[in-house]
Amino acid sequence: MDVAVIGAGPAGLMAAEILAKGGAQVTVYDRMPSVGRKFLLAGRGGLNLTHSEPLDQFLARYREATRYLRPAIEAFPPDALRAWSDSLGQPTFVGSSGRVFPHAFKASPLLRAWLRRLDQLGVEFALRHRWTGWNAKGDLQFETSNGSTSLKPDATIVALGGASWPRLGADGGWTDILGAKGVGIAPLRPANSGFRVTWSDLFRDRFQGEPLKSVALSFGDSVVRGEATITRDGIEGGAVYALSAPLRDAVLASGEAVLRVALRPDLVHADLVTRLSAPRKKQSLSTFLRKQLGLSSVGVGLLQEATIASDLLPSTMSPDQLATFINDVPVKLTGVAPLERAISTAGGISFAEIDTHYMLRKLPGVFVAGEMLDWEAPTGGYLLQACFATGAAAGRGALDYLKR
Ligand SMILES: Cc1cc2nc3c(=O)[nH]c(=O)nc-3n(C[C@H](O)[C@H](O)[C@H](O)COP(=O)(O)OP(=O)(O)OC[C@H]3O[C@@H](n4cnc5c(N)ncnc54)[C@H](O)[C@@H]3O)c2cc1C
Repeated sequence: MDVAVIGAGPAGLMAAEILAKGGAQVTVYDRMPSVGRKFLLAGRGGLNLTHSEPLDQFLARYREATRYLRPAIEAFPPDALRAWSDSLGQPTFVGSSGRVFPHAFKASPLLRAWLRRLDQLGVEFALRHRWTGWNAKGDLQFETSNGSTSLKPDATIVALGGASWPRLGADGGWTDILGAKGVGIAPLRPANSGFRVTWSDLFRDRFQGEPLKSVALSFGDSVVRGEATITRDGIEGGAVYALSAPLRDAVLASGEAVLRVALRPDLVHADLVTRLSAPRKKQSLSTFLRKQLGLSSVGVGLLQEATIASDLLPSTMSPDQLATFINDVPVKLTGVAPLERAISTAGGISFAEIDTHYMLRKLPGVFVAGEMLDWEAPTGGYLLQACFATGAAAGRGALDYLKR
């Protein structure tokens, strides 16, 4: 039972582990010189492996894809992922937000231990092998530094990721290969991405890189508390990413969307009015707002920026008007940050194209997993959980196929 796993990210490596444990002879191919590059980057700011919330709540994060992902995640749920990490000598803990991290906080010790296990299971690696599709005989074809090579395994797992951060390996090039085979693929779009805002020169030069801390962002009925960062040409950060799916859809549909920022979401309106009714004396508005409300300079700057084209400036507003404004600052988004800079990718292989074993209906013996499938989720561990769970499902699916 020879199996080729193409793509050495979390999804492909998990499929390789399941297959090798099931007795298959597995070779993992990747175009990069080393494995798991995005996984390692994911761990740089703290590897958020999964989330501890109740499973139904957890599953709902995958929006329309919940019903498709449910069986794979129920078969390999967050607790199983934590136990797996533990078994590799990397126990996990639940952070204050409910997110789950390995104690080491980084991906490198986990990846090292995982590669040792795969080695003991007999998994082989062929790096610097870029998959280019199938040749006329139906063999898998790879480009290597020594020219092209082809092979015909008994089953193939394709786990090539999305198209964000292409320099780490996943560049979405597979869409042409599988598209040419008639596989239905929803266009790849940025997920968990920032947005473009046309800041004034003054605001951009002074505040780019500055965080808006403990704010609440809202769009439609959704409200998210957290942090956002002003960038040279827009806004990004955890709270923005959490709203990025509906914001992206609105911006792509109508060219713009208005994100609303509450700068002091913890203070009710009456409280704000009382504090803003204190005599300002000779203080500048900025100093007054900092002292009365603890607003940061970038927060005050945002208030001024939002009224730049209006007659009603923050300095001329009544305490009641200003209180309303402080917790409802409109920020007009005029574009989505490019896919290359997004945390993850929406779109991908349609679930209608695979059977319950993650095998492509049009290409028997070829299984797919991970971010290349058409699902998206916010940050919080949901991305990796779905990659691990679908990788495991594709691995089990391929074993079943080989035994049939
Ligand atoms: C900055 C950042 C931080 C993140 N943090 C987190 C986090 O904390 N928690 C979380 O849940 N998720 C996080 N993610 C997302 C997570 O890393 C991805 O969802 C996950 O790595 C996707 O796994 P995958 O196996 O599907 O694809 P990938 O990890 O992208 O792996 C795909 C592999 O396929 C290879 N490949 C592509 N094309 C070819 C080809 N033609 N031939 C051969 N090989 C090819 C690539 O080189 C790559 O190694 C983060 C992402 C980023 C960018």
